[in-house]
Amino acid sequence: MVQPYKHEPLTDFSIEANRQAYLQALKTIEGELGKDYDLVIGGEKVSTEDRIISVNPANKQEVIGRVSKANQELAEIAMQAAVEAFKTWKKTKPEVRADVLFKAAAIIRRRKHEFSALMTKEAGKPWSEADADTAEGIDFLEYYGRQMLALKNGMSVQSRPNEHNRYGYIPLGVGVIISPWNFPFAIMAGTTVAAIVSGNTVLLKPASTTPVIAAKFVEVMEEAGLPKGVLNFVPGSGSEVGDYLVDHKDTRFISFTGSREVGLRIFERSSKISEGQIWMKRLIAEMGGKDTIVVDSEADLELAAQSIVASAFGFSGQKCSACSRAVVVEDVYEQVLNRVVELTNQLTVGDPSDISNFMGPVNDHGAFKKIMEYIEVGKQEGKLMTGGEGDSSKGFFIQPTVFADLDRKARLMQEEIFGPVVGFTKAKNFDEAIEIANNTEYGLTGAVISRNRAHIEQAREDFHVGNLYINRGCTGAIVGYQPFGGFNMSGTDSKAGGPDYLLLHMQAKTTSEMF
Ligand code: NAP
Repeated sequence: MVQPYKHEPLTDFSIEANRQAYLQALKTIEGELGKDYDLVIGGEKVSTEDRIISVNPANKQEVIGRVSKANQELAEIAMQAAVEAFKTWKKTKPEVRADVLFKAAAIIRRRKHEFSALMTKEAGKPWSEADADTAEGIDFLEYYGRQMLALKNGMSVQSRPNEHNRYGYIPLGVGVIISPWNFPFAIMAGTTVAAIVSGNTVLLKPASTTPVIAAKFVEVMEEAGLPKGVLNFVPGSGSEVGDYLVDHKDTRFISFTGSREVGLRIFERSSKISEGQIWMKRLIAEMGGKDTIVVDSEADLELAAQSIVASAFGFSGQKCSACSRAVVVEDVYEQVLNRVVELTNQLTVGDPSDISNFMGPVNDHGAFKKIMEYIEVGKQEGKLMTGGEGDSSKGFFIQPTVFADLDRKARLMQEEIFGPVVGFTKAKNFDEAIEIANNTEYGLTGAVISRNRAHIEQAREDFHVGNLYINRGCTGAIVGYQPFGGFNMSGTDSKAGGPDYLLLHMQAKTTSEMF
């Protein structure tokens, strides 16, 4: 009998022993910097000449690791390994599959700070953000393991006299998992193990800026007893390996998390039938957001300001759920804006290895350039209240930035920036605030700060986002508590960490026997 599961607690870094443990983990990681990591194909390590060089975004000179890079030829060998392994893995009992996840969770829990510290180095995550990422990864392992046990006997259907009907779920086949760098552990691991525990075999292509944490996770899955060929590790360029695997005739499904642009490309390509392909590929695509916090005139304004700042600038705004728009009813607009500026001015930016820095760097040169360009656009479109500066001499640092008085249709209010920038706009009343909140092509997260019950209910019905939060910020979904996924151009609303998620990786089969 599996124990019910709550969720992995976050580390309290006000406790000295926890701080020391994290510093020790950072030292361990520093001792491993620059190591080589291989591909894993059919359980065998494969080393290539061509490598992805993963660097610390807070210190470009620091090499985190050198990771072998798959090309199309190696991707093909990995595909065949996954096709072969599927023949036995699909028949492995769900309990056994779930146990691999539970054991992996236990291994990671024991080495928790090591995983988090690696993310501090490889992804520029401040301690608490990295700790939450690792905790979420553990949660996915524990939660999906239990979900598989709950689903293993299918659902009940009726039978007539002398007839016996069964309705169960079987795996799909080979899945291609393509993950982003911003939750380099939780999303990478969660999407991979959901597919695996459902009985599929996979090829994992992690983001090219965070392949080392993914390599470490693959080692853990092997240590937890995953048979060869079930998880094939094929880091490589999105356009080369990604396209090849998306187009492949043996790919049965794709689980993608990333930008709208790449998600739509995969959506289009995966709908074309390749020669020899005998199914319609299934696509799970979780994409970008342009998430809004709405502040009502009847609201706790301190809560509003705190929620906006935490949701806009946590992990430098590099979350699909980050608050990048604040829509405030005009009576309280100045008050909320001024308080947000005040709080933003207290934030510290610097190397995330130092716990005193609230914000670390942005992901890489491309992200730095794009965000700085948006800041220039913002200066034309609105009023710069604070921030606006960037420094990429050592790492990719950008000050938390607030723009006021933006038009609701301004680019800054419509396009995903994916950085520490939040734009304010004024609404005449609550109706108009909800109208503005719904005016983008995305629909991922949103929050409403209000004391007015009728307005809260109105938002519940009319604010069209996959994850709506009331009287709190719009980031920080917890597995099993707030299943996560968005509407419209935010993706296929797969609801990761929710009760329906594994079903996306399976197909239902009906059998009917006459007695
Ligand atoms: P991205 O540029 O779209 O990359 C995501 C993944 O796709 C990476 O592994 C990337 O590989 C790969 N890729 C690139 N081109 C490809 C192609 N042609 N075919 C197949 N794969 C390809 O996104 P990102 O910058 O890593 O992540 C940030 C985005 O993810 C934001 O838009 C954010 O909102 C979104 N996101 C959404 C969720 C959600 O749950 N909705 C969660 C997290 C992030 P390379 O790294 O090699 O290019």
